[in-house]
Amino acid sequence: MEKKDLDWGKLGFGYIPTDYRFVAHYKAGKWDEGGLTGESTVTMSECAGVIQYAQTCFEGLKAYTTKNGRIVTFRPDLNAERMISSAKRLMIPEVSKEMFLRAVDETVKANAAWVPPYGSGATLYIRPCLFGTGAVIGVAPAPEYEFRVFTTPVGPYFKGGIKPIRLMLSQYDRAAPHGTGDIKAGLNYAMSLYPGHVAHSKGYSENMYLDAATRTNVEETGGANFLFITKDGTVVTPKSHTILPSITRRSLVYIAEHYLGLKVEERVVPFEEVKDFAEAALCGTAAVISPVGAIDYEGGTISIPSGMDDMGPVTRKLRETIVGIQEGEIEAPEGWIREIC
Ligand SMILES: *Cc1c(COP(=O)(O)O)cnc(C)c1O
Repeated sequence: MEKKDLDWGKLGFGYIPTDYRFVAHYKAGKWDEGGLTGESTVTMSECAGVIQYAQTCFEGLKAYTTKNGRIVTFRPDLNAERMISSAKRLMIPEVSKEMFLRAVDETVKANAAWVPPYGSGATLYIRPCLFGTGAVIGVAPAPEYEFRVFTTPVGPYFKGGIKPIRLMLSQYDRAAPHGTGDIKAGLNYAMSLYPGHVAHSKGYSENMYLDAATRTNVEETGGANFLFITKDGTVVTPKSHTILPSITRRSLVYIAEHYLGLKVEERVVPFEEVKDFAEAALCGTAAVISPVGAIDYEGGTISIPSGMDDMGPVTRKLRETIVGIQEGEIEAPEGWIREIC
């Protein structure tokens, strides 16, 4: 298989259509088998559920080339499970784990020429999405749906090394107490665009959101969970029903305990406590781990002791271990790596 002639090291995080995508349709109460297609556009009713009432959810994962040249995905079964819980909450007929995994496997395999080579720092980003295509004018679940899995090669998230980022404490809320914060719904992103614009226009990388009910506890950013490290080396991560259960975060918690022998606490994290931590980081599929150097809020700044020049030692260790597992240099726990070809 001949790789595409791309400058892998220079790729950004943008959409580059690849040759194939998997598409399945739900009609008359059931999903068809689905299969690969070259067609990258979607045609549907102007009155589709996704267009009128934002009935859509998605997933995000990556395919990597390992040191010994194999193409693998990382814990795709957890993406399949999470998409089922998103679908349930949005009244979308769920895609079985079997179909989800088959769709991801087939799409990646068909686009193997687009999977960046080992060592390039780039990966093939996989975007499964599920949306209402049938017409609805009264507020109701759509009668028809599409499940689509497409891929796009993406560059190393951090070009020229990983630099700690600066966050802004948002004046907006991300997720209501009994709302949709714990599912990967498109609607959670639509309403984060304006707060994101406000943060970016002031020079911040991201917003830190607090819980909407009390505005005292740390939740997450628009698209990544938090990890904090205490001065005595304990890993602390916010526990809340309104944050998105990040697969990267759940994996890092396991790695901290079982690979690095660290103590982990999943608990409520008051914003008041953030100033006492030694290190802070964001985690998610896109960037894996990004260190946080400072957080500005109305009336002050929290400077994380690890600073704005480099990540702290525990953050570095966590990052090296998870990347090593994903790239096949460190032995993975049973079932974490799914070999595709
Ligand atoms: C996708 C997402 C994350 C990260 O989850 P991963 O499974 O680690 O990629 C975190 N927060 C939000 C709001 C997300 O949508």
